[in-house]
Amino acid sequence: MLDIQTAVSLQTFNTLALPARAEFFCRVDTDETLLEALRWARDKGLRITVLGGGSNVVLLNDIPGLVISMAIPGIGLQHQIGDQLAVRVGAGENWHLLVQRTLAEGWYGLENLSLIPGLAGAAPIQNIGAYGVELSERFLSLEAIHIPSTERLSMSADDCRFGYRDSFFKHAGRDQYVITSVTLSLSSKPQLHLDYPALQQALVERNPTELTPALISEVVCEVRRSKLPDPAVLPNAGSFFKNPVIAKEQYARLISQYPDLVGYPQADGLVKLAAGWLVDRAGWKGVMRDGVGVHQQQALVLVNRGGDGAKLLALADEISQSVLSQFGVTLELEPRVYP
Ligand code: FAD
Ligand code: NAP
Repeated sequence: MLDIQTAVSLQTFNTLALPARAEFFCRVDTDETLLEALRWARDKGLRITVLGGGSNVVLLNDIPGLVISMAIPGIGLQHQIGDQLAVRVGAGENWHLLVQRTLAEGWYGLENLSLIPGLAGAAPIQNIGAYGVELSERFLSLEAIHIPSTERLSMSADDCRFGYRDSFFKHAGRDQYVITSVTLSLSSKPQLHLDYPALQQALVERNPTELTPALISEVVCEVRRSKLPDPAVLPNAGSFFKNPVIAKEQYARLISQYPDLVGYPQADGLVKLAAGWLVDRAGWKGVMRDGVGVHQQQALVLVNRGGDGAKLLALADEISQSVLSQFGVTLELEPRVYP
């Protein structure tokens, strides 16, 4: 049943714990309630903002209109052909609990994506990725509601136009759809992806007798916990900047000047730089001021210790300017900023 509340604090609904309020707010746990909410807002000419776990947003001010908190549940095996499984997941399912559930069921493929905060419905928005695996490699389709028409539709991987931490939903599809479920392509036969250096190193240290998806998940969680601040303890939104991708000529110039620059050649001839290295080398690691700062262990993560969105963005802007002037590389914000 639709329950619209007014002037709701969103501080506990975003992992940066930024103070902001929703003019109107509702939680939706069925497609029908979602449709009701969309029509309610449309009739009043209100703006609609969808929130999942709030782990990739920067809330600058109070949000006008209706904030919809996604809570549609459900995890189910849709069909199996040989080893191949199609698993449908409600948009409101917690991503990490989903990963754990799939491992317990013997549905493999998400292990490298363990411990990513947020909900399943947001995973396609930035094509979540970690430790050498991206959602797009495990994606079959999604179901969504088109906000302006309130029509239901299904979208394929091609429709989603996945890119590096990118999709159609960050461009032409921005604010046009509410994703209600995601169907993943998993396997009953483990196919481990162990190429990622930090994962390899952790496995060498453990020297396990057997490599299993459950072990990979455990090791990924261990590595993540050792480097990343837990948002429940120190509010953050993960990587604040995307890794920039530059021309190989620019990379050649930079590496001659900075021999320890971290860069990874891509299939298209471009080179992906580690944004964390650039921010660190520009001298920002551990800097704290006005209640916001750069994490001590991971320069890519900005943290909030009682500041606000404006202070956080001012810091991010100063970091970007200094990286641009020192390296000639433009940094792009990863989280979505709500002005
Ligand atoms: P939110 O922050 O709530 O929303 C993000 C955007 O998606 C918003 O624009 C929102 O409107 C939209 N959205 C959310 N749900 C829906 C929906 N159902 N329909 C339509 N639009 C929707 N990301 C990675 O890719 N890899 C990582 O390894 C990773 N590690 C992280 C570690 C930490 C500690 C933190 C805090 C973040 C990390 N992230 C990572 C970023 C973040 O967890 C992901 O982007 C995640 O998918 C966001 O999910 P969410 O539910 O919190 O989305
Ligand atoms: P890391 O292992 O210290 O590596 C630093 C960067 O180098 C990463 O951003 C990674 O790019 C890149 N990299 C490392 N090895 C690579 C390889 N063999 N080929 C191509 N690129 C390589 O990174 P970290 O900060 O601890 O994060 C570990 C993983 O978790 C990464 O995949 C990262 O994306 C993910 N993560 C994401 C967020 C987020 O909010 N988006 C937050 C925390 C962690 P990629 O980022 O492209 O993998």
